[in-house]
Amino acid sequence: MILPIYAYGQPVLRERAAEVEADSPELQALVDDMIETMHAANGVGLAAPQVGRALRLFVADLSPYADELAEAAGGEVPAWAEAPLVFINPVLTLDEACDEVDVEEGCLSIPDLRETVWRPDGVTVRYLDRQFQEQELPAVGHLARVIQHEADHLDGVLYLDHLSPLRRRLLQRRLKAIARGDAEADYELAFAAP
Ligand code: ZN
Repeated sequence: MILPIYAYGQPVLRERAAEVEADSPELQALVDDMIETMHAANGVGLAAPQVGRALRLFVADLSPYADELAEAAGGEVPAWAEAPLVFINPVLTLDEACDEVDVEEGCLSIPDLRETVWRPDGVTVRYLDRQFQEQELPAVGHLARVIQHEADHLDGVLYLDHLSPLRRRLLQRRLKAIARGDAEADYELAFAAP
């Protein structure tokens, strides 16, 4: 089932999400719905707060970039780029040796806006997959970027928070418009109550 995506201004996007305590049919259904919703919106990542659920869970799918990633990896498509990934209760360790890089980011909750964000180019994430098996994934490049963006959502952090105060001020009008429901996307958005 495709779910509406909560737009900037929704309080749940600013909450610290709770740990997922246990597996359940409801949780598995939520994971399926999140993957379907991410695909329908042409996103590469979606966090549970973006569908109104304050849980430490996000999905990512880099398969649209499989060819590009295979080239970077010397020909083979990396296993993690072949299917959607499910991250439950993720814990990130930034790779201190990695340089920060500037990459343009967008967010399904903030339609029609893309901004350059500096982040480390590498991160290791420990998490439970949807079978609740412990996993550890060292990520660089595009995957590291998506993981950091989505993990931020679980702490109520948006990519906007990484911008300079000046840049944020320049975006205020646009952001206020989104918060009052004055925004369009080719997927369904759920706006904050006025
Ligand atoms: Zn986002």
